Amino acid sequence: MSKKEQIAIIIGAGPAGLTAAYELVTRTKIKPIIFEAADAIGGIARTYNFQGNRMDLGGHRFFSKSKRVTDFWFKFLPPESESTQINSASTNTDKLMLLRNRVSRILFLRKLFPYPLQFNLATLRKLGAIRILKIAASYLYVCIFPRRPEKSLEDFFINRFGRELYTIFFKDYTEKVWGVPCSFLTAEWGAQRIKGLSITKTLLHGLKKLFAKSAKSAKSAKSNGTTETSLIEKFWYPKFGPGQLWDEIAAAIIAQGGEIHFDHKVVAVHTKDQQLTAVDVLIDGEVVTMTGDYFFSTMPIKELIIGMEETVPHAVLEAATELKYRDFITVGVLLKDLKIKDNHVGLIRDNWIYVQDADVKLGRIQIFNNWSPYLVKDKNQIWLGLEYFCNANDEISRMDNSELAEFAISELVKINFIERDTVITSTVFRTEKAYPAYFGGYKKFHEIRQYLDQFANLFLIGRNGMHRYNNMDHSMLTAMTAVDNILANVKLKNNIWNVNTESEYLEA
Ligand SMILES: Cc1cc2nc3c(=O)[nH]c(=O)nc-3n(C[C@H](O)[C@H](O)[C@H](O)COP(=O)(O)OP(=O)(O)OC[C@H]3O[C@@H](n4cnc5c(N)ncnc54)[C@H](O)[C@@H]3O)c2cc1C
Repeated sequence: MSKKEQIAIIIGAGPAGLTAAYELVTRTKIKPIIFEAADAIGGIARTYNFQGNRMDLGGHRFFSKSKRVTDFWFKFLPPESESTQINSASTNTDKLMLLRNRVSRILFLRKLFPYPLQFNLATLRKLGAIRILKIAASYLYVCIFPRRPEKSLEDFFINRFGRELYTIFFKDYTEKVWGVPCSFLTAEWGAQRIKGLSITKTLLHGLKKLFAKSAKSAKSAKSNGTTETSLIEKFWYPKFGPGQLWDEIAAAIIAQGGEIHFDHKVVAVHTKDQQLTAVDVLIDGEVVTMTGDYFFSTMPIKELIIGMEETVPHAVLEAATELKYRDFITVGVLLKDLKIKDNHVGLIRDNWIYVQDADVKLGRIQIFNNWSPYLVKDKNQIWLGLEYFCNANDEISRMDNSELAEFAISELVKINFIERDTVITSTVFRTEKAYPAYFGGYKKFHEIRQYLDQFANLFLIGRNGMHRYNNMDHSMLTAMTAVDNILANVKLKNNIWNVNTESEYLEA
């Protein structure tokens, strides 16, 4: 008698869910069926196409210290060769990873400062003598009297940069991203987010750059084990944006027998004897129950727990209900020109710009032309992504799309970035729960994890699936490790939770 085919239900078609499905179709006999709540592939790392202009929600650099991950990317989109110039005739294929230079600066006092900060003459001139003296004095002060114990992110920043520099370059931006004061965030989180950076390292990095004229090879970008991760200067990027890679992978999954269903939102989970048995899926207003043998979840843990059919212990439910997230909005603006220029000509070089000034709510500006010129339909136009961080129901998220676009454009004008009459058109894209927060219910996260880990056939993977402020490579490695565990019959989930924590590098 032939054995019944085993089914893996995968919740979410972002990087984690797609990687899990691909690993299953290629390495096992288990059939993956993905249920995706949205109408497109890629999750946060999708590419949104607006009238032929492609928008990357967040600006996704492809950089990983894991060879397993980079090999996976290059299987679908091979790297451009070191000698291939981006606009040359030798770029004869669309399936390509471009090697891009990272250029990002900080906009403060309506002036552009290098990121990471470099203490060169230009920076000193822009900051002015009084500020420089204050920076030096507050840095010296903290060298002699560091804040001990280092409890909050504010302590972390001040100990490394001094109060003045922290106030100028870190405080307002971090508070824009998280919506809470830096004194509210933990120091460990800072240590992970901007690993190892300090004034001394920033100065040394600047000096090193002066002497070693960069032109680093593609090889060093592939496995850069020593550079402080916040300083990475090159990254890979699919020619048509991150969604191009996920579309390729989705096509391979379907070609090999997997299934992907859009507009299928998982709303509840059925369990029996410490196993998941089925999920309830909302399809066109109807709830349909789907059974499976294995379950991979990339949906927010908060929603997973709330949707559990069995009685969840009170402490776990309470911690999950208290988990916090930050939403994210990208306003795409198509322009004829920018007012701000480098050396008064041409397009500025940056991939993105951090907006530090506190008199606008705008967090970052993406210049999509500089990620890949192929993201923009008309090469003579400028395609920007204006990023806002918000909470459900706050002032920003309550605005409707046209109000929001007008508000964003008025902020661009206010910071002297554009002239109003250069705007051609605009669009708005909202991403809920883009940032899982390490405050609120997170302090009791261990209880949630312990509870969910007992379900032997449930694999929590990816960003919201594990409530990790992660990058794509982390999502992918957690998916790969989960499939490794199924193949090796490993029951414990520790190796999934431990993925990449040492070598993680993070956006922003
Ligand atoms: C602003 C920003 C910038 C970033 N920059 C980078 C970068 O430069 N480099 C990098 O590597 N990473 C970057 N990241 C991180 C990257 O986006 C994530 O690591 C990655 O997208 C996580 O993939 P995932 O599959 O785990 O989750 P997601 O991308 O969140 O995908 C989860 C999917 O599950 C679906 N889903 C949710 N709930 C349900 C449900 N109930 N039923 C069915 N489907 C559901 C969602 O619609 C979504 O498609 C950035 C993130 C942000 C927010």
